[in-house]
Amino acid sequence: MKKVIISITALALLLTIFLVIMKMEYGKIADKTGGKTQVSAETETTNESVEEADDSSKGPQPHQYPEYTPDQVTKPEGPAIATDDLAVLAASENDTAGAGESTDGETLSGTAGMVSAHGLDFYRVSRNQIGILWSEDTDPEVVSYTIYRCSVVNNVGAGDWVKLATVNSDGVNGGSKNAYIDVLSDTKPVQYGYGVLATLKDGSTYTSAGIETIVASNIRVCIDPGHFAGRNTVDGQYRYCEGNFSLVIAGELGKRLHAYGISCSYTRTGPTIAIGGYANEELDGYHIKLRGQYAAVDGCDLFISLHTNSNQDNAHGYPTFSQPKSINHPLVIVNTLACNNQTALNVANSIGINLVNANYKANLSTVTNYASAAVGQVPGWDNNINDSLNVNGMTLCRLNNSGKDYYGVLKGATEVGIPGMIVEHGFHSVPEVRYAAMQGGLAGIWADADAYGIAYGFGFVDKISY
Ligand SMILES: [Zn+2]
Repeated sequence: MKKVIISITALALLLTIFLVIMKMEYGKIADKTGGKTQVSAETETTNESVEEADDSSKGPQPHQYPEYTPDQVTKPEGPAIATDDLAVLAASENDTAGAGESTDGETLSGTAGMVSAHGLDFYRVSRNQIGILWSEDTDPEVVSYTIYRCSVVNNVGAGDWVKLATVNSDGVNGGSKNAYIDVLSDTKPVQYGYGVLATLKDGSTYTSAGIETIVASNIRVCIDPGHFAGRNTVDGQYRYCEGNFSLVIAGELGKRLHAYGISCSYTRTGPTIAIGGYANEELDGYHIKLRGQYAAVDGCDLFISLHTNSNQDNAHGYPTFSQPKSINHPLVIVNTLACNNQTALNVANSIGINLVNANYKANLSTVTNYASAAVGQVPGWDNNINDSLNVNGMTLCRLNNSGKDYYGVLKGATEVGIPGMIVEHGFHSVPEVRYAAMQGGLAGIWADADAYGIAYGFGFVDKISY
């Protein structure tokens, strides 16, 4: 296998800056509600069906979320370490080597004389190149870093560590992060565990803290937090704004995908969106395809647009934003490319199934079924699907009269050759849903479903639901 070693790169610097910005943005957005006060309905999905009501329209009862930790949040265990290399590793046997852990923030002085290749992170370079990064501040104490790799099965490290390469230290604390690019033999979706072990200089006063490990893959997903801040605001009982909450979901999703070793690109990381010189209303009103096309910028493998749904005004005789829980069902609308792509449909179906379960478990819906779609047999849009009470969630597509994608964001992704989907996680016209969003926790519950579905679609977990 060919290996390429790169030293300090602008890419590493950019990544670091990006991560810092992301961190700042997500810290700020949690409770922003935008400036608008009028009630504005979701405009993407409407219909005129009226069916029987249920008795859950008397207003939400405060409730607590169950303690709920899906499997994928659990950090995977590291594999057993191969016995050949490793006098140095022997000194670190009590290091659990949990794949997926990184130790950002440690410093030489802060680790009581211990040195390790800390600050480990990854980025998907391309479908056959995975980049690994770690801090350079240990370089003065280190001769070289040895890179190891292991298999990952069901998001858990498996088999032995295999030595990939040795990267020499430049002996200087400064510059950008150390980096190594693993060149894969093909482009199939794959997760690996990577370990980096520092070899200290002779006579160093420090001790090795052992191998640092992380999970990384060759998959990159473009996350599109729907709309922009202030868009689709429900004022009154349990104030809510879709354009704000979609960004909160995006932040939670990004964290979870990172734990799967999946890299992410974002159409926006703050309240506003600007692509190709167009921002907010102008972008969404006249150039919305640019959102979907953005997935091509980093060569993403999948485009996912995050939304919450609504219904036609006063559907079923209930006030527009006081709909019963029985209207709440997830819809995953795939683009025309995804209709014929098994991986993308596996993602869509798994997300939908897990959203149905999550919404029901959180007492936000009465719906327990989800209709998955098969390649070449994805059902089309029907207005009844959106507003009906007590119907299952489903994977579907929506085409315009020309047989192209109805939604601009999905059309944009199709045009750049990337399978994509809109995920309508639940109905914000249901007061209980808005209440749950306001309480916190709901974004994480939904992001669990999204991240798991993506991991399932790419074959990183083997069961369709958790
Ligand atoms: Zn929306």
